[in-house]
Amino acid sequence: MIVKKRTLPLKILKNNALLLRLPPDNSNIPDIKTDLAKRMAGYRGEQSLDFHLSKLSEKDYYVFHGVRLTNGKYYFQIDSLILTASFALILEVKNYSGVLYFDPVCNQLIQRNAAGEEKGYANPIEQANQQMKELRKWFNKRNINLPIEFLVLISKPSTIIKTEPSFARSLQKVKHVQFLNSEIQRFRQFYNERFDTKELRRICRQITKEHQTENLDILACYKISFSEIKTGIVCPSCYSLPMKRHFAMWYCPKCKTTDRDAHYQAVIDLFLLNNDVPASNQDFRDFFNLSSRSITVKLLHSLNIPHTGTNKGRRYHPPPNYQNITDLNSSTTKPPQ
Ligand SMILES: [Zn+2]
Repeated sequence: MIVKKRTLPLKILKNNALLLRLPPDNSNIPDIKTDLAKRMAGYRGEQSLDFHLSKLSEKDYYVFHGVRLTNGKYYFQIDSLILTASFALILEVKNYSGVLYFDPVCNQLIQRNAAGEEKGYANPIEQANQQMKELRKWFNKRNINLPIEFLVLISKPSTIIKTEPSFARSLQKVKHVQFLNSEIQRFRQFYNERFDTKELRRICRQITKEHQTENLDILACYKISFSEIKTGIVCPSCYSLPMKRHFAMWYCPKCKTTDRDAHYQAVIDLFLLNNDVPASNQDFRDFFNLSSRSITVKLLHSLNIPHTGTNKGRRYHPPPNYQNITDLNSSTTKPPQ
């Protein structure tokens, strides 16, 4: 069963909010677009796992996507983790195309595209191996005695994988994604069962409890100040802004769309761009381009935005799990029902 479903990486949501709200001449836009495209491709690569994972028995396999845990100072993040009664399996998915050459001398991955251009990456085997060491440490601290395996999965079947004969053994950890299930069966035959379902579920609960969502100061990342961000309600149809408040609706002067809930995305944008800092009525009024305190209260209450404090001391907090979005298009539509 899927214990933790895959959601869009936070940086995708934040970059998307930035792109909608930066003036078109902002010098950071090309970098943000490149980064967004790279991360979207990575996310689609990870999605290529889903078909293969759907074939696993619900009761024997517990799947976590995007788990982030810590052994103290630093966090380690695992793309996908599968727990079974006999072993844990870390999956690191790469969406690289062309020819991949694992260079054993420089411990690097070199990608050659159809035009013959080369690009170097950190060795993903090393990356997954590091995650395995951290997870082992994490398991040991909690007396979880479960062997850990890892695989680096290449999501495109057409990608060619190459190395030197001396490095061929390490390459056994690198597979095309369509071989995932046969690899899982191989591990299953190799390891004996150690846990019953009850114990396995206890470990799942512990991972879920200790998972920490990443927070990322996107404005600091690109050295953008909050004053550069365009305020107002973004139109859910043509993505221009600001929409105007008109007869208890939002109206887009550009494409004439009307929408009752378009301010939901602005609430989310404010939390995404401001690192979840609790916001006052005034903060939202400024961000919505509204002058009325009472209309702002009404709008925030209609969305059930959690709040603490009273009157001028009232602060609104990010809605629970608002970052758990699986599809970028759905983030600019309606509030969750
Ligand atoms: Zn519009």
